[in-house]
Amino acid sequence: MKIIDAHTHIDHITCNFQPDVVGAVCCATMESDWKRIVDICNKDKRVYGAFGIHPWFIDVAEKDFDKRLTKLLEINSCYMVGEIGLDKYKPNMDEQIDFFIKQFNIAINLKRIVCLHCVGAWDKILHILKQYKQSELPIIVVHGFDENEDILEKLLRYKNIYFSVGKNAVCDRNNRIDKIPLNRIMVETDAKSDFLLNDIVVKISEIKNDENVPDIIYNNTSKVLNNE
Ligand SMILES: [Zn+2]
Repeated sequence: MKIIDAHTHIDHITCNFQPDVVGAVCCATMESDWKRIVDICNKDKRVYGAFGIHPWFIDVAEKDFDKRLTKLLEINSCYMVGEIGLDKYKPNMDEQIDFFIKQFNIAINLKRIVCLHCVGAWDKILHILKQYKQSELPIIVVHGFDENEDILEKLLRYKNIYFSVGKNAVCDRNNRIDKIPLNRIMVETDAKSDFLLNDIVVKISEIKNDENVPDIIYNNTSKVLNNE
């Protein structure tokens, strides 16, 4: 089996890859991660870099980060924007929205993939998405997706949205994974090491009752990351 970890972080990526994992998206959470991720991407071609400010860390962001982010992304057309988003359990929602929109617009202008973090703020994200034409929107990889069918259905109207799932999605008694179309699923560790991604892929195969699931998930991710 070949797997690409669609969402992980820097401390994890410096460790060995899990069995069967042949590639990984390494997401920054703050500006101090950026240079380290660039170094890792240069050294290890299996690593795909995503750069941005995570909603948990906007208070430590420095002035003009958006200018430096744009410059960094221009260096390499494969670099993505992430992890960015909104989190209702963190303070300063208005400021979070400002940060998100700024970074989202950079992704749109430079035609980059967005690694999205959203906790309890789907109404706001959906409202923001509505401000754009479908054709303008970048590819969005929603990470750790674990939401109800109503939100899923609204997100599925956007053809460029993918869902990267980890342990929670397959352990959940409601099996949300059942409702996500196979051609939109990716898998992720989110830098956690208390489960194996190949177990998650096997579990998804069982839920979907389809032995081609490992190939489909690998191809979904590879196609998006390699712009095929
Ligand atoms: Zn993350």
